[in-house]
Amino acid sequence: MTRSIHPIHDFHYKSGELYCEGVKVSSIVKKTGTPVYIYSHNTLVEHFRKIKAAFDEVDPVICFAMKANSNLAVLKALVREGAGFDIVSGGELRKALLVGAEAKKIVYASVGKTEAEIADAIRAGILLFNVESKPELMNIERIAGRMKKTVQVALRINPDVEAPTHDKINTGSLKKKFGIDLSTARGIFLDHKRFKNISINGVHVHIGSQITEGAPFMKAIRTALAFIDDLLRDGVQITYFDIGGGLGIIYSDEKPQTALEFSNKVLPLLKGRALRLIMEPGRFIVGNAGIFVTRKLYTKDNGVKKFMIVDGGMNDLVRPSMYGAHHEIIPLERSEARKIVCDVVGPICESADVFAHDRKLPDVADGKCLALLSAGAYGFSMSSNYNVRPRAAEVMVKGGSWAVVQARETFKDLVQGASIPAFLK
Ligand SMILES: *Cc1c(COP(=O)(O)O)cnc(C)c1O
Repeated sequence: MTRSIHPIHDFHYKSGELYCEGVKVSSIVKKTGTPVYIYSHNTLVEHFRKIKAAFDEVDPVICFAMKANSNLAVLKALVREGAGFDIVSGGELRKALLVGAEAKKIVYASVGKTEAEIADAIRAGILLFNVESKPELMNIERIAGRMKKTVQVALRINPDVEAPTHDKINTGSLKKKFGIDLSTARGIFLDHKRFKNISINGVHVHIGSQITEGAPFMKAIRTALAFIDDLLRDGVQITYFDIGGGLGIIYSDEKPQTALEFSNKVLPLLKGRALRLIMEPGRFIVGNAGIFVTRKLYTKDNGVKKFMIVDGGMNDLVRPSMYGAHHEIIPLERSEARKIVCDVVGPICESADVFAHDRKLPDVADGKCLALLSAGAYGFSMSSNYNVRPRAAEVMVKGGSWAVVQARETFKDLVQGASIPAFLK
């Protein structure tokens, strides 16, 4: 019997065993070991198609926010669907080019772009820079001039709205480093003729991440459109309107707006306006497409609390420690074991190394594996080598096939480039 845990992804129990699409997760883990990230190709592309279909009538440039997940197989699967990329570094630019992304579907945000990063992006011929400050704009003008190129630029405006999400992923208020305040941005647009090598013809807004309600988006979008209308009245033409990312997903009991509900609100506002829409979804596309599998080492009871200790840690998946994020945790084999209330913790020497607080879970036998669901976004991409731990392997499943798409790091990888200087020898 097949029972979906969630209608939103392709991880489900069949005869009591967790499957990803047509592959038994435990059969993967037997080969790869733990911890390991496993991605469903179908869930990934279906989410991309959902956004594409919802906004189809305006044919937007959909730029997957690579920082959510920069695994090459994930990127390639999205390129094959027609995705572009929202990048934030020179490294992300190189990954985009490596998987054959069209340069004209790449947009580049970041509050601190270096000279080399700007030059590389100009050389690659990206669609536009999302500029986050006046000094950055002057830099791009100067570098483009030196390269004898004209480049397109959108200004990332800061609409000064507080999105109801975790403070660390709230980006649309003036207390945050992101974007340019409206009056400075307006001044730059009105002054656009003084720039010889940049064409300032886009407006960008991104107010944060994991926003489940429609209202804050609409507030930011309305603010941006009013800003654009004011510019039009003053004779400034805007070609691109980039509404960023930030669409929330289901981790437990959230009821985020669907892509269709979102487009039903946004599209009417664009009617009659000659604006090319750009979108930058990250989490929405990849969040539910991945799980993180970790092995239970043992349970420890200190008389006050029980701790289920697993072999994955905050270096592998930092969202619970960093954002207080919730991930559903389920065993790979449906378990009849007695349920206990425990903290699920990793081996890292930090009190924050906790995947779940006071969670009711079956007390599975030591050595059994657990899956943390909805771990596809900001999982592996935020992982580190803290505590000299090699980063986990990554696997992609497509139908009945699977492949390791990122090998587990080895100790050799960890000491690569390190050396003991002569004066210590
Ligand atoms: C992080 C980010 C995104 C993606 O955010 P999600 O919440 O993953 O959709 C899009 N645009 C910019 C500029 C970002 O920084």
